[in-house]
Amino acid sequence: MEIKGKTVIVTGAARGIGRGIAGAFAREGANIVLADLGGLADKTAGDWNYALAAEADLTSAEKDIKAHGGKTMTIEVDVSDRASCQNLVDKSIAAFGRLDVIVNNAGIIQTGPLVGFAERDWDRIFAVNVKGIFLLSQAALPYLMGNGGVIINIASVAGKRGFPHMGAYCASKFAAIGLTQSMAAELAEYAIRVNAICPGNVDTAMWFDHLSKAERQRHLHSTNTVEDTFNAVIDATVPLGREQSPDDMAEAALYLARAENVTGISLTVAGGFVMN
Ligand code: NAD
Repeated sequence: MEIKGKTVIVTGAARGIGRGIAGAFAREGANIVLADLGGLADKTAGDWNYALAAEADLTSAEKDIKAHGGKTMTIEVDVSDRASCQNLVDKSIAAFGRLDVIVNNAGIIQTGPLVGFAERDWDRIFAVNVKGIFLLSQAALPYLMGNGGVIINIASVAGKRGFPHMGAYCASKFAAIGLTQSMAAELAEYAIRVNAICPGNVDTAMWFDHLSKAERQRHLHSTNTVEDTFNAVIDATVPLGREQSPDDMAEAALYLARAENVTGISLTVAGGFVMN
């Protein structure tokens, strides 16, 4: 696919990996719809174990990405809500007249031993990480069919192997990969390609506001900073000895958007941490 002039929706675009991917497509001349919770997160602040992106993050992402030129707009969305996904698609079409690429990047995490893991947290992880892909893709499909449309789902290395204390998150990311493969097989006849990216360790809010703290607590390294913990995990587990960045994921997303003969894959970008 030639990216210039196409319309790209990125969910979870206010910060982290989504923001990096949106910036890369903007630099290639695409119209960008930055979709995130925004004001919805402000209204429900404190209802998750770490803060999700607020309206200020979405506004700052828009400013950032507008600097790359091209057309950019923000739309508030809760990907776990059908009407909200439909509204995102309708407004994107109203603004840009076409839809070409959907990046299902919005995701959340909660960790902890399964024995005490809250059912509410399990359900919310699945509602965002799995059902969110289904709902937004379903709303977008009528505009992608026959159009050479592309769907990119952000899964994880946690969708390739299990990790302790990560049952709900791993199960959701395995599910995202299964859904990716089913969609790829089913939608090929409509010229829609569907692939996943499996990031390794990226220093976003998900890592620093949750995983690093959980990891530190689990190993009782209470004197370590979250940065020390993150770096220790990289040193111990990543053959290339380096963390991954939103730009690494953006490079993979651009490749998957362009690679006309690639569908159904889950591309791991993890410095060798996971090799399949
Ligand atoms: P992040 O927390 O910075 O970004 C996630 C974004 O999703 C946030 O902006 C958040 O507001 C948004 N979001 C959450 N719930 C939403 C909802 N219901 N509707 C709309 N938006 C919602 O973390 P990140 O690391 O940038 O995560 C991006 C994706 O990458 C996630 O799917 C995550 O599971 C995946 N991932 C991250 C890592 C990592 O090391 N950071 C590794 C593997 C996979």
